[in-house]
Amino acid sequence: MATQDDTKQLRLAIIGGGLAGATLMNALTKYSHLDVRIYESAPEFSERGAAVGLATNAQRALEEISPEMGEALDKAGAGSGPDAGTIIFDLASENQGRVVHRAAFLNELLKPIPSSKMFTSKKLTKISTTSPDGEIILSFLDGTEEFVDAVIGADGIHGTVRECVLGAGHPALNPTFAGFWDCRALVPIARAREVLGDEYFKEARQYAWSGDGGFFMHDVLDNGETVQCVASVMTSSWDPSEWKRDLDREMLEEAFKSWSNGPIASGMINLLLENKELKAFPQWHFKENTPTYTKNRICIIGDAAHAMTPWQGSGAGQAIEDAMILQTLLQEVKNPQQIGAAFQAYDRVRRPRAQRIVESSQGTGRIICGREEGVRLDVEKLRGVLGSRWRFIYEIDLKKCKEEASGS
Ligand SMILES: Cc1cc2nc3c(=O)[nH]c(=O)nc-3n(C[C@H](O)[C@H](O)[C@H](O)COP(=O)(O)OP(=O)(O)OC[C@H]3O[C@@H](n4cnc5c(N)ncnc54)[C@H](O)[C@@H]3O)c2cc1C
Repeated sequence: MATQDDTKQLRLAIIGGGLAGATLMNALTKYSHLDVRIYESAPEFSERGAAVGLATNAQRALEEISPEMGEALDKAGAGSGPDAGTIIFDLASENQGRVVHRAAFLNELLKPIPSSKMFTSKKLTKISTTSPDGEIILSFLDGTEEFVDAVIGADGIHGTVRECVLGAGHPALNPTFAGFWDCRALVPIARAREVLGDEYFKEARQYAWSGDGGFFMHDVLDNGETVQCVASVMTSSWDPSEWKRDLDREMLEEAFKSWSNGPIASGMINLLLENKELKAFPQWHFKENTPTYTKNRICIIGDAAHAMTPWQGSGAGQAIEDAMILQTLLQEVKNPQQIGAAFQAYDRVRRPRAQRIVESSQGTGRIICGREEGVRLDVEKLRGVLGSRWRFIYEIDLKKCKEEASGS
């Protein structure tokens, strides 16, 4: 028999309008028993950075969420090409990744959402409850409050909701430095061809070079107009108060001194320095085992749950898998009392996999930078250890994950 609670819409708040929050919003918006709203602290929904690679698991998860999502990728200008590729190994034949423009993809995700459900300049400052498993009160910086049945924190690596789930002072609360920094520049393709040579632009794909303690990569964006150049460097420490560091030629040449005589390193350094604002960004991740992604009617997804290094290009893909599992579970939830169990099921299915990728991604960075004991820069050994490292990520049976989550 339906209870009074079963006939009311469930009020869900998504905190954070990055790729994780926007994908979940898109996934849940069609269910009439759910009243979902998304709150973003910035004045507008926007994505920084040029491109994001979506491996086949991420593409399939999008299609599981909605068949229209494949179209959304096309509309967002996704190009084909491997998720990652180096002169050492080639994922193209196994894993047809697609590279998509971040802002365009976010725009496509949010297009079907009614504006009455989307809120900007809403920075969440506090979550309180009327009772441990009761209605939730969200307090925002602008002094307003909202009352909801459940909260999903998609508020990124420095968000607020993680602390509500883990508790203040928890050892896994803060991200740790992963041992790498990276920098990037966008240059016109004609300039990149001139500097690197035409041979590295014959295919629309990512090209990458490994070396001692560092890595270079470039890929072609914007329908062939622009080239994104990336350098990553290993380093043992980083001052946590420093968000980014100015870079100049001397620092780049010092970082790549063991290979700066080669044409690739000197060419890539020249291209990177075309960015007059070139900065080194440290890579942070939630390496400390996060003991849970949920507490009562609160849960965390995306980087708020499992921020990871970019070495296996999987952070956004994992956020999409989070959204797919929550969609599976929340479409069946009929009253607030069932939410806690749904979030527990989400945690059970998603946390081991995401945590494994956090670990694997950092290890992949170490290998690619030639610092793995017993492998170093031996090309054959690199091929051997790297070749299969992505397989567990993209060979996942997503339908089985959904079944596991829903207990069927
Ligand atoms: C260099 C680099 C390359 C990458 N490449 C890839 C790749 O190729 N493939 C891939 O799958 N992944 C990649 N990733 C990872 C991917 O970009 C992230 O995992 C993903 O964008 C995280 O999305 P998110 O929505 O969880 O977090 P975020 O993008 O951080 O979004 C969080 C949102 O919450 C908002 N917010 C924060 N606090 C509050 C608050 N208190 N109240 C309200 N709103 C708040 C923020 O303003 C923000 O909009 C890469 C990451 C980096 C750094």
